[in-house]
Amino acid sequence: MDIVEGTISLNLPEGSNEVLLKNLYLSCDPYMQMLMSKIEGLEGFGTYSPGSPLTGYGVAKVLESGHPDYKKGDLVWGFTKWEEHSLVPSSQILFKIEHTDVPLSYYIGILGIPGMTAYAGFFEVGLPKKGDRVFVSAASGAVGQLVGQFAKFTGCYVVGSAGSKDKVDLLKNKLGFDDAFNYKEEPDLNAALKRYFPEGIDIYFENVGGKTLDAVLLNMRVHGRIVVCGMVSQYNLAQPDGVTNLANLIFKRIRIQGFGVADYYQLYPKFLEYVVPKIKEGKIVYVEDIVEGLEKAPPALIGLFSGRNVGKQVIVLARE
Ligand code: NDP
Repeated sequence: MDIVEGTISLNLPEGSNEVLLKNLYLSCDPYMQMLMSKIEGLEGFGTYSPGSPLTGYGVAKVLESGHPDYKKGDLVWGFTKWEEHSLVPSSQILFKIEHTDVPLSYYIGILGIPGMTAYAGFFEVGLPKKGDRVFVSAASGAVGQLVGQFAKFTGCYVVGSAGSKDKVDLLKNKLGFDDAFNYKEEPDLNAALKRYFPEGIDIYFENVGGKTLDAVLLNMRVHGRIVVCGMVSQYNLAQPDGVTNLANLIFKRIRIQGFGVADYYQLYPKFLEYVVPKIKEGKIVYVEDIVEGLEKAPPALIGLFSGRNVGKQVIVLARE
């Protein structure tokens, strides 16, 4: 591939089924940190190597295609790289963007992996029912803000935790959570959860791990469900924070289940049917934190671990 003064000349070799993409929007995700470390159990997840562009989810425009499913001008989302243009093998899953009357950045947020993660985790793993009491950590983030809104659509009572007053206000005033608290200002998380859930928690949507999980274990109801989506507080630690209250899994007969969104891609059409009308009718809110330019991507990624992002962290490279 030759890139000359902003124009690209590409001759895909005869028989090639690769796709040349112009990357428009890139996603910053907490899991990317883990791919930079050597973590036992993560082998096979495509860990990063120094000198190569990071891989991750993005929204892109097809510039050339040797694959019959994609043609020049198509908009797609899927796995790409942190670079302006990417040549991707057709074996790499790319979803064609059908609804272009919503912001394209949504395909790395509410209509992409975070949206699918919230949907699969909450409905398929959490098995919610009306009246359930739901707690969500990292609740104002890309995934959490949707879990809370899905919980409200289901008729649940939902409380979120987040790391600043502004985020707590967002949860209560814009995202429709019944209540929210700033975990950084709660010296005793167990006492805080008892305040918000005097009758206990039916579903905990776990995004952070560590001390929050430990306090939640003391506050689950009998036969409660813990949906383990992520543990962002743990990804940068050499030694994981100790979780000491695991015996409650027995006392309360709790089901705790980890999940990976990739196991649920077959639900994507059903998910779109659920969520697209809600977006178009203004029934769902999606908060994004948008920065411009590839040079802003590394600090944005690092910022996820201090809570600098408010909502889904998006990097814009080009708008089309
Ligand atoms: P977010 O947009 O929520 O960004 C991360 C947020 O985590 C920060 O804004 C910060 O919010 C919070 N945070 C960071 N460090 C800590 C800490 N030490 N303790 C508590 N909170 C912290 O990210 P996503 O919504 O994209 O991801 C949420 C979780 O879902 C992550 O754990 C991620 O790995 C996981 N995930 C899992 C998937 C799966 O298939 N299982 C797929 C996609 C995501 P605050 O200011 O509130 O602290």
